[in-house]
Amino acid sequence: MSYRIRTWPDKILKQKMKEVDFFDDPKLQEYINVMFEKMYELEGVGLAANQIGIPYQILVLDTNTKKYDQQEGEEGVKMVLINPKIVEKEGQIESTEGCLSFPGVQITIPRAEKVKVVAKNEKGEDIEIDADDFLAIVLQHEIDHLNGIPFINHLSPVKRRMVLEKYFKTLKETARA
Ligand SMILES: [Zn+2]
Repeated sequence: MSYRIRTWPDKILKQKMKEVDFFDDPKLQEYINVMFEKMYELEGVGLAANQIGIPYQILVLDTNTKKYDQQEGEEGVKMVLINPKIVEKEGQIESTEGCLSFPGVQITIPRAEKVKVVAKNEKGEDIEIDADDFLAIVLQHEIDHLNGIPFINHLSPVKRRMVLEKYFKTLKETARA
């Protein structure tokens, strides 16, 4: 299996991923390891399994990865979430985001300000996370991926069309160069 990064319009990015039910299988840890490896290699803050062709509900993130305006001395968080679900949302903020599956695209979209997420850890134990700010945004972005929802879906149809036209044009130019 090749774990190359999948970019839009790869169909795995449009599909809802399968739930993990093989917590005793060493395969799970292998997936997690390769996901962290890829995420760091590509300098992403988070990665959803389908972004590298793994068809399960797994996400990894490390908010230390990115040059976002982290407060001095503030510790980032590193986590693995399996079968994650957003169970509560609160507030709304404008979020400017990029995505490893849409090289060169940066858009501003509405996101909830705070989220509560329930998931399993890699041992299959229940975990619950209350997140706000940057972590809340990363979680929403990556959990959307696992449900087959790319971030451009949060744009109005008109804006989405404009962003995609530019994206495909750039892709073509890059391919020609
Ligand atoms: Zn993404």
